[in-house]
Amino acid sequence: MTSRTDLVEELMGRFPHVPREAVLKEDLLRGGLAFDDAALTDNEHGDVKPKSYFIFSFDHRTLPELGTAALRRPPEEIVLTGGPYELRRTVVSVRINPSSPYRVGTDSDGRLRLFLDGRPIADVGLPPMPAYYRHTLANGKSVMEVAPTIQWGYLIYLTAFRVCQYFGAKEECQYCDINHNWRQHKQAGRPYTGVKPVDEVLEALEIINRHDVDRASQAYTLTGGSITSQVNGLAEADFYGQYAQAIEERFPGRWIGKVVAQALPRADVQRFHDYGIRIYHPNYEVWDKRLFELYCPGKERYVGREEWHRRILDSAEIFGPRNVIPNFVAGVEMAAPHGFTSVDEAIASTTEGLDYFMSRGITPRFTTWCPEPTTPLGRTNPQGAPLEYHVRLLEAYRATMDAHGLSSPPGYGPAGPGRAVFSVSSFMDTLPSTDS
Ligand code: SF4
Repeated sequence: MTSRTDLVEELMGRFPHVPREAVLKEDLLRGGLAFDDAALTDNEHGDVKPKSYFIFSFDHRTLPELGTAALRRPPEEIVLTGGPYELRRTVVSVRINPSSPYRVGTDSDGRLRLFLDGRPIADVGLPPMPAYYRHTLANGKSVMEVAPTIQWGYLIYLTAFRVCQYFGAKEECQYCDINHNWRQHKQAGRPYTGVKPVDEVLEALEIINRHDVDRASQAYTLTGGSITSQVNGLAEADFYGQYAQAIEERFPGRWIGKVVAQALPRADVQRFHDYGIRIYHPNYEVWDKRLFELYCPGKERYVGREEWHRRILDSAEIFGPRNVIPNFVAGVEMAAPHGFTSVDEAIASTTEGLDYFMSRGITPRFTTWCPEPTTPLGRTNPQGAPLEYHVRLLEAYRATMDAHGLSSPPGYGPAGPGRAVFSVSSFMDTLPSTDS
């Protein structure tokens, strides 16, 4: 039987121009990793920054199935270096899978290492607890709950609305556990604010701004579930826009403002821009028409794929094409029973989508699919997509970008192996090096 090590090394050999760091990172993101108890955090009371569960669970098991990791959170991210593959510094978001062949634990010298199939393959660095996480809001809420940071502190992730109004099997995207994640944190008795008051967000940002003396935080993302009717009397553009307006009034230009929202009509997109947002992520999720209809039934019913794409193009006239960065969920193209059964077909379809947008100056980006167990696609595909798909996507992404004369999108920090901080896919680790 082929081991996971064999698979990883075979792909590193076949695709030598894809950084080895990116091959490993994709494998960790698609399949998760286990943690020895000694490598877990002491939640908000220790020296290591804990996993904040900033929007989805991004775990391969439900919270009650995580064992000690449900009581003592794993770190938000890890950084890998060295080892037999001579890894340059690689930041990886933590997705827990107790049965993964990857395990973080200590070696006989007491050093923290990443093991694959029992063999140490990298040194592991943990994110230090940021000074701003040691403070609370006046009402006792933690900064981690209200304004967590990810990407090694680069991005403040503001999930203003913790549930989605696409609800239930006929509307929720088939790979998304936002609503389940909200339920499971509530059931575990964890603080998990459904709708974050604007005042709390401002107070948390004040604390971050005061204590982030190195100015590691460079951007904020406003996001949450889709709003098909209203929240607190506001439709989607005004609900998410009110936070940007308040942030820009209080901290003008301190961070790059981004919003992940639906592809909205032009007038609403203009309001996002007027509120002070500078980067717009109207995520198209999956390119193939049939798969979009099957996987995103709510979006298909309320907006429709063609209209969604038309609105993405329209928004480029408001934000500028460079600042429209729609996401897709890399890997769901190959999910059984409806997805492509060959990597060739899946890559061809995804590349068609990249071409469509990049030929118009719009640079999509992707997150690596985590098959969460409470989602329909996660249940039927617990292994996720083949690693070969993810490696070839990195190759196709860079080639398409080069063909259209584009470079790494703004708002993601530095690009290049050894420099990237974007932690939920390795597209930034694969692009030519830049400083910001
Ligand atoms: S629109 Fe889809 S992906 Fe986005 S939060 Fe709702 S269910 Fe999840």
